[in-house]
Amino acid sequence: MLSRCWTLFVGPHFSKKINLETSFYKYSFKKLQNLLADQDINPDQARLLYNWHYKKNQTDPCSLFGLSDKAKNYISSGFHFKRPEIIEIKESDDGTVKFLFSLKDQKTVETVLIPFNKKYTVCLSSQVGCAMKCAFCFTGTQGLSRHLETDEIVGQFLEVQTWLTKNRPLDDIILNIVFMGQGEPLHNFDSVKEALEIFISQYGLSLADHKITVSTSGYLPGLKRWKAEMPSVNIALSLHSVFDEKRSRLIPINTKYPLSEIIPIIESIPEGKKRFVTYEYLLIEGFNDSEEDALATAQMLTNTKAFVNLIPFNPFPGSEFKRPTKEKIEAFYRIIQSHRIPVTLRTTKGDQILAACGQLNTNHLKLKG
Ligand code: SAH
Ligand code: SF4
Repeated sequence: MLSRCWTLFVGPHFSKKINLETSFYKYSFKKLQNLLADQDINPDQARLLYNWHYKKNQTDPCSLFGLSDKAKNYISSGFHFKRPEIIEIKESDDGTVKFLFSLKDQKTVETVLIPFNKKYTVCLSSQVGCAMKCAFCFTGTQGLSRHLETDEIVGQFLEVQTWLTKNRPLDDIILNIVFMGQGEPLHNFDSVKEALEIFISQYGLSLADHKITVSTSGYLPGLKRWKAEMPSVNIALSLHSVFDEKRSRLIPINTKYPLSEIIPIIESIPEGKKRFVTYEYLLIEGFNDSEEDALATAQMLTNTKAFVNLIPFNPFPGSEFKRPTKEKIEAFYRIIQSHRIPVTLRTTKGDQILAACGQLNTNHLKLKG
């Protein structure tokens, strides 16, 4: 394979080392530096390359001023910039947008763009399906098909950002990223971590680490790696009940990794390796929405730096649970608040297009009622 740049420095030995299938989006800044160094290219050129693509959206390195000819040839003949393809877009009256992406093997995942005062949060998927099989989650009913690769995670973000710039040019850019789409991000630790590094790299997308949240069902092997390896983004734990029996009924991996093991690990992640901890609490009618549940939750979280996010259950076709009444939700909220624990109630966005948490990839089914 000859280089696409006209100055040819690529000998047979050099070209043999290039994997023509490599996506540029698989490489964190540090990894790209190492890759260049392996090819006897000055690793500082990674800075130019990151800036050229992530800030200026360029894909042809041949005209990149300041880049060595060897680096130009290496990049132009060895890397591609393909992204997952948007095959369907649904927009809700509240401004929420749901994107259906087709991946390289034709499997699909969804990404949701959620507006708030002309600013946006993008909700990314980390897996096709999910192995955790939570009883209240549609993704869980599908089982795990496969992990997403780093380029597929970064690609979701870039495609959504491009859509936003084109279609809502007067609005602000994406401000927050949450890993709350399909999949358990800590079960796909390496790819998620690599994508996070690309998001926050100062030479690349330069997103603020405190605007990124990774939500987990409590996958202990991933949580154990957090302290040493994760960039300092926010962590959210899907709590849903402080009682093991109830929690295990909702989140089966709780039997293997109970709260008594998870909470100390989360609490031990030092400041600087996490920003703040959110405890997500899914409210299900008659199951975990009682006064006793609220008091026990408040008791467990008093004197921690917790922040509670209440999520009323979003129904999906065939789901066995129901959302509590407004009064019940508000009563739960007040009990948490009365213990001086910061608490928010997640308003359900994108219901109309089945884009709310737990409803992703349900479009081929019909909601009852
Ligand atoms: N796997 C991770 C992140 C993806 S799920 C996790 O479980 O935390 C993101 C959030 O959506 C979690 O808090 C999850 O509990 C919630 N969720 C899943 N199904 C839901 C449903 N049907 N209604 C409301 N929230 C749901
Ligand atoms: Fe997986 Fe999260 Fe759904 Fe549980 S709630 S099945 S961990 S995506």
